[in-house]
Amino acid sequence: MRYISTRGNSGELTAAQAIMQGLAPDGGLLTPDSVPTISGKTIVDFTDMSYQKRAASIMGLYLDDYTQEELLRYAGNAYSTEKFDTEAIAPLHKLSDSVFCLELWHGPTCAFKDMALQMLPQLLSAALVKNQEQKTACILVATSGDTGKAALEGFKNVDRTRILVFYPKDGVSDIQELQMKTQEGKNVGVCAVVGNFDDAQSGVKKLFNDNDLKKRLSQMGYFLSSANSINWGRVLPQIVYYISAYSDLVRDSEIHLGDPVNICVPTGNFGNILAAYYAKCMGLPVAKLICASNRNNVLTDFLTTGKYNRKRTFYNTISPSMDILISSNLERLLFDFSGKDSALVSEYMRKLRTEGEYQVSDPIIDKMHSVFASGYSTDEEAKETIARMYREQSYLIDPHTADAFKVLSDYRRRTGDMTPCIVASTASPFKFCDSVLDALGIKDIKKGTAMLEQLAEVTGRPAPAPLASLKTKKVIFDQSITKEHMVDKVMEMLG
Ligand SMILES: *Cc1c(COP(=O)(O)O)cnc(C)c1O
Repeated sequence: MRYISTRGNSGELTAAQAIMQGLAPDGGLLTPDSVPTISGKTIVDFTDMSYQKRAASIMGLYLDDYTQEELLRYAGNAYSTEKFDTEAIAPLHKLSDSVFCLELWHGPTCAFKDMALQMLPQLLSAALVKNQEQKTACILVATSGDTGKAALEGFKNVDRTRILVFYPKDGVSDIQELQMKTQEGKNVGVCAVVGNFDDAQSGVKKLFNDNDLKKRLSQMGYFLSSANSINWGRVLPQIVYYISAYSDLVRDSEIHLGDPVNICVPTGNFGNILAAYYAKCMGLPVAKLICASNRNNVLTDFLTTGKYNRKRTFYNTISPSMDILISSNLERLLFDFSGKDSALVSEYMRKLRTEGEYQVSDPIIDKMHSVFASGYSTDEEAKETIARMYREQSYLIDPHTADAFKVLSDYRRRTGDMTPCIVASTASPFKFCDSVLDALGIKDIKKGTAMLEQLAEVTGRPAPAPLASLKTKKVIFDQSITKEHMVDKVMEMLG
């Protein structure tokens, strides 16, 4: 299988090259040049297969320069019961005969990003060997919370990689900060940057463009790389769990093989829902993909009207991982919907950069409407949804997942479409204790790790072990710097 850029000027790459490069040299996204298909037999075969085997089998269809043996080993490492608190890895929780919640947060950092970031580092490390790259990959991350910790856990102690994470001093929750400050591992570094997420992000972007730094790093045996969600190695592991979930529904006689399902995904950068789209293209019987946003509803507008307009107010919401106005992975969808018209995609992306908006063609709008539905949830509506689900179904969800349930219920009311629906649940409610406690009507919400105990007390459910153990973890990284000092910090951490 070959990988090509959505902007058309990067030639053809192998999977290992695509994963090592992350972004195409022409600024586009590297995308498989064809989509492999799965048959009904595959889905049936999966019913008595472990999650690890399912993962190796699906990924092998896209990564023909990796052996099955390699992929099985990586899947075994990534999705082990040492790291995940359930053997099912990505279990479905049945809420009714037609609503199934796909819990993607049973991994080491309690957010769905673990599903991909436990896998990507191994694919990348092997890609260095396959491409005969002698240098060590130095991964730089600016994070608003979930990605940084998931990347640290994924890359920790992985051969020939170093990972350095910068987070905004004023931009992450107490729990998120503690998760990062206590990170263990011999190849990791964490540092706070004074300011907000934009300060951290623009600082990291500057590092990537700093030729002097790159030269010095090269002499020390390093090259810079990114663990951003535009890397194909992050999208691919996410395709697995949608196929796996469908197979579980067949296994449990909730549906018959071939029955259509809908999939509803709380969306930010469009990576997770894009993976569901690929699963559909591979032949998984998916009818509608329902794209759920929060008040930053740029995708709702786009999927409705075909006009993408990022010139709008940015809101901080209680589902911060979806607070985003430029959904990078959308570019891959446009590439596919335009019949791989890289000139057209380049033009849309140029307009987005220079004018802040673009309007897609009518044929693309028609395709969008046939595959996608969309909607959004306000913070108030998300909180009501958390409270109602807890009251009526004794099921506790986080604010991101609540956005999805709210949008699904609107969708069903609007269309009457009661097709069985898989709802992606992207974070443990314990990761967002304060919002969840608030939604449940609790006053006097505690601070820091005490919040975890408070939510456990109120709901009678234990906090996930990786969060509960934060209380006794040693703080290893406790520095904060101004963004002018990031270069020095990188040199110091690579020491
Ligand atoms: C990253 C994230 C999302 C958004 O996923 P995308 O792939 O960026 O669309 C949703 N929920 C949570 C909890 C996340 O961490």
